[in-house]
Amino acid sequence: MTRRILITGASVAGNTLAWWLGRTGFDVTVVERAPAFRDGGQNIDVRGSGREVLRRMGLEQSALEQGTGEEGTAWVDANGRIAAQFLTADQDGDGPTAEMEILRGDLARLLYEPAAERATYRFGDSVTAIVEDDEAACVTFASGRTERYDAVIVAEGVGSATRTHVFAHENAPRWMDLTIAYFTIPRTADDDRLWRWYNAPGGRSVSLRPDRHGTTRVMLSVQQPPGGEQDWSQERQKTWLRKRFSDAGWQSARVLEGMDATDDFYFDVLRQVRMPRWSKGRVVLTGDAAWCATPIAGIGTTLAITGAYVLAAEMARSDDVVAAFAAYERAMRPMVEDAQGVPKIAPRLMNPHSRLGIRLLHGALRMASRPAVRGITGKLFGGSTKEPDLSQYDQNRTDGSTGAPERAVTAAGRGALSPLLALGAVGLVLGVSAVVGRRNAPDPSHPRIRKWYRGLDKPGFTPPDAAFGAVWPVLETGLAVGGYRLLRQPSGTARNTAVGLWLLNTAMVGGWTQLFFREKQLGASAAASGAMVASSAAYVAAAARVDKPAAAVGIPFVAWLGFATLLAERIWRDNPEKGR
Ligand SMILES: Cc1cc2nc3c(=O)[nH]c(=O)nc-3n(C[C@H](O)[C@H](O)[C@H](O)COP(=O)(O)OP(=O)(O)OC[C@H]3O[C@@H](n4cnc5c(N)ncnc54)[C@H](O)[C@@H]3O)c2cc1C
Repeated sequence: MTRRILITGASVAGNTLAWWLGRTGFDVTVVERAPAFRDGGQNIDVRGSGREVLRRMGLEQSALEQGTGEEGTAWVDANGRIAAQFLTADQDGDGPTAEMEILRGDLARLLYEPAAERATYRFGDSVTAIVEDDEAACVTFASGRTERYDAVIVAEGVGSATRTHVFAHENAPRWMDLTIAYFTIPRTADDDRLWRWYNAPGGRSVSLRPDRHGTTRVMLSVQQPPGGEQDWSQERQKTWLRKRFSDAGWQSARVLEGMDATDDFYFDVLRQVRMPRWSKGRVVLTGDAAWCATPIAGIGTTLAITGAYVLAAEMARSDDVVAAFAAYERAMRPMVEDAQGVPKIAPRLMNPHSRLGIRLLHGALRMASRPAVRGITGKLFGGSTKEPDLSQYDQNRTDGSTGAPERAVTAAGRGALSPLLALGAVGLVLGVSAVVGRRNAPDPSHPRIRKWYRGLDKPGFTPPDAAFGAVWPVLETGLAVGGYRLLRQPSGTARNTAVGLWLLNTAMVGGWTQLFFREKQLGASAAASGAMVASSAAYVAAAARVDKPAAAVGIPFVAWLGFATLLAERIWRDNPEKGR
């Protein structure tokens, strides 16, 4: 017997489900609260398993063709000068700008139009009550209708009213201390094909992104604790933004003028949806309604498409909806927990409050965008490592191919940082260390330090200055790779010990340059160098218990410190008058 399914919400998750369930022979109705299909929304990206699902639907090529044409991401200063940039052309795979960047409305329409061929869509209606009996869920709508369904799928986004109704008090939202507004403004001649991101003091940022409709997409964000702003009227939200950004600089004046005239304004105070379960009887949650990870995680659309596909596939292979919902939850939980692992410090790191913080962020990003590190960053944005194994649903494919190179589900990774955040943390820590190191370097910009250093008696095995300049970037890259790999591991005593030692050693590198070049403490610096041999060896040993490659790339660091200690000790002994 054909099963009757109700989907509420006609956006990314709802339309993907309607597409798959309609093609599998279910009798599908989609009810959307808005009076007509919603076209709005800004740039979103689809990565990893999300792209695989689109490929299986035969829609991947169309999605790429409808892309925004964004060519990369650049952080700019108040004069529009680029402080750091990641170009997609330089990236092997996805970077901050993914290979598949598309407007939310364009993607939702791409899914909606073919889905509507095999599902009934009803706009301007919503659920008011659901009562279950042994046979079905009896649903009452705002329009007054009452219908019976075998299953109800709630895909209503982060603020879902049906979720609140069916799963009362179960959501424990995690507020991310970031308020965001998206809207569209007219394009000007100097808007290029880059996503330009400007940080202003006070935790504010303005970003401009290209689209394929001849307009420019704006995002304004403010890093601050939540204050109920999502419930204000649109007029009050705009007035508040006007006040907050009136002195922000760069293109703020133009953006605020555009905001007054826009007819496409989306505002939200970011919070994750945290549900202990995603189904109850015949009702199941999916997409942002189930697990909103917020745009900070950078994977919301990929999760919505993947989750919809997995849910449809599990419903297709079992007549028991409760069993199908349980299998769907088992398959999706690890990926969702991985995406939701973003720590609350993330918005603060990306939206510094002080000018110094902005300079450090730019320094860290510049470092992460260097060619030597860029090769790694390409791999970091490719999708979640906890994606479900889609090959188990191969019989659902419509693109004619068989099998797929999906990754298997691994153990849940609580506490593992997302790729973007791990990269940011590594860049920030090493960036600070590099800034301190440069401040103390015996180079032409520090003539007094340089003169003192050149006047020291040094042993014959002292390498030329150029060798130091060449060795440190290699060692720091090893530390960066090691730190990144460790931060991506699930939290636990061994991982946290290794991360602690990584932080200690990175801090000691900067501290040592201060002690030797600025303080001229030759004895203390030789002792500190010896201590670093021990602490770096402890770091490598701790890392080896968690991740062997992370340990391996730390070994040259230990070896160099051993050599540096011999050198520092000889310089101390040979220069009794020149140190302190
Ligand atoms: C208009 C709009 C603009 C967006 N813009 C951005 C953006 O610029 N950047 C970004 O990262 N993310 C944006 N998002 C969120 C993004 O689409 C989601 O994070 C992600 O794609 C997951 O999609 P979803 O289908 O689970 O939820 P959503 O995309 O949030 O879709 C939920 C759908 O359910 C409908 N709905 C809500 N309540 C009910 C109800 N009670 N009954 C029936 N229908 C209901 C909504 O109208 C909407 O169509 C936007 C969402 C919307 C709706």
